[in-house]
Amino acid sequence: MTDTWRNKALCRQYDPEIFFPFTGDAELPKRVCGSCPVRERCLRYALDTGQRYGVWGGLTEDERRQLPHPSRPDPAVSDTFEAHIAELMDRGITPGESAAYLMRPEPEVRRIRDRIQKRRSRARSEGVG
Ligand code: SF4
Repeated sequence: MTDTWRNKALCRQYDPEIFFPFTGDAELPKRVCGSCPVRERCLRYALDTGQRYGVWGGLTEDERRQLPHPSRPDPAVSDTFEAHIAELMDRGITPGESAAYLMRPEPEVRRIRDRIQKRRSRARSEGVG
């Protein structure tokens, strides 16, 4: 198998069926994914290949469906990457999930989220909007 990231997948130690929770209870697979060393790669794979069912990279199918595709510009952010993070933020996607989705380190995503929030508060206090 050339997909070496799969060899490091934590889910290999579990019954695969728990990652396809038909009852809608995804707590256990999400907990496993939360500790998985290849979570980001797994989520990227699921998005790139359009996996429709099951928990991948810690996100359920519904959560993956809600991730934004190429972003709309946000006037309070300076570039496309920040706009993407802003959109994820507005959708309630956590910093960790955003980092996995964007394949960037979580501290970087958190830093950018802080910057966006500060810029938005400044815009509000200056009476824009
Ligand atoms: S993140 Fe992906 S590879 Fe890792 S445990 Fe979850 S489903 Fe398996």
